[in-house]
Amino acid sequence: MGSGNKEKVQYSKRIRYLRRLILTSVAAACLIPICICVILAVRYDRLNSKYEQARADLDWYRQRFGNEKDILALEDTDETPSEGGEGSSAGAFESMDVDYATVDVSGAQNPEDIEGTRYVYLTFDDGPSIYTDEILDILAEYDVKATFFVCGKPDAKYTDSYKRIVDEGHTLGMHSYSHKYSDIYSSVDAFSEDFKKLRHFLYDTTDVLPRYYRFPGGSSNKVTKVDIHELMDVLEADGVTYFDWNVSAGDDRAGATKDTIYNNIVGNIPRFKHCIVLMHDAADKKSTVEALPEVIEAIQAMDDTVIVPITDDTLPVQHINNN
Ligand SMILES: [Zn+2]
Repeated sequence: MGSGNKEKVQYSKRIRYLRRLILTSVAAACLIPICICVILAVRYDRLNSKYEQARADLDWYRQRFGNEKDILALEDTDETPSEGGEGSSAGAFESMDVDYATVDVSGAQNPEDIEGTRYVYLTFDDGPSIYTDEILDILAEYDVKATFFVCGKPDAKYTDSYKRIVDEGHTLGMHSYSHKYSDIYSSVDAFSEDFKKLRHFLYDTTDVLPRYYRFPGGSSNKVTKVDIHELMDVLEADGVTYFDWNVSAGDDRAGATKDTIYNNIVGNIPRFKHCIVLMHDAADKKSTVEALPEVIEAIQAMDDTVIVPITDDTLPVQHINNN
C-alpha cells in the first residue's frame, strides 16, 4: 500500500513537472517572438530615423550641388585649386590627377623656408551631417581639435551637433547659410545677408560668434557674379578672416575612396609647414570618416608636426588675397 502511494505521488509529481515544462515552453514560445519583435521594432525605428536623416541630408546636398555642377561644368574649364573644394564631382572636377599641393597659393610655405613645427589644420566643410558625431568621436579618441566650416541647418536634430563642436573645443567657422551658389554669389547684398544670417544663427545656437569663413568653392571660385574682393570686404568689415586650403582630401571627387583620401592628405602634408586640409562633413562622404583615424595616426607620427584648430594666430591660406 505504501509503495502504491509512493508511485502515485511520483506519478503526480511527474505530471506536475511535465505540466510546468509545457507551460514554460508555451510561455517561452510566446514571449521569445514578442521580445524579438520588440527589439526589431526598436531597431527598425532607429534605422528608419537614421535613413530619414540621411535622405534629408542628401536632399539638402542635391538641391545645392545638382545645379551647381551644371553651372561649374559650363563656366569653369580651368584647373584651379578651388576645384578641389566644393561638393562637386562632375564636369570640370572629374580629373583625379590634379595635385592641389603643386598649385602655388599664398600661405603655403616651403618646408625648407621655415624651421620648427609643422601645423596641420583639419577642416570640415558643409556640416553638420549624419557623420558629424562620428567625426567628433574620432577626433576625441585621438585628442585632436579641428575646424568645422558649417552651414545653416535649423533642423532641431543638428542643434546638438553645433553645440558639440563648440563644447569639445573645436573651432566653429562659417561656410554660408544656404550654400546656394546661385544665391550667395548673385550680389554683394545677397552674400552679406546670407553671411549675417548664418552668423546670427550660430551665435543663437552656440553662444559663440564665429570669426572665420570659408567661401563655398573657395575664394578662387569662378561662379561668383560679383568681384570676390567685394565679398571679402563684407567679411573684413565684420572682422572675419577667410580661409582656403592648400591640401585637399579630394573627397568630393568622383571615385574618392578611403585610400585616395588618405594619400591625398598624408602625401601632401610634408610639402608645407602650414597645412590647411580640406575635408567634407556630409552625408555622401562616408569615405572621409573611414579614412580619418589613419590620417590622424599618420600625421601624429610625423616629426615636429601638430594638429591644431584654426585660431587668431593661424596664418591664413588664401587662394586670392584681398588687395
Ligand atoms: Zn561647401
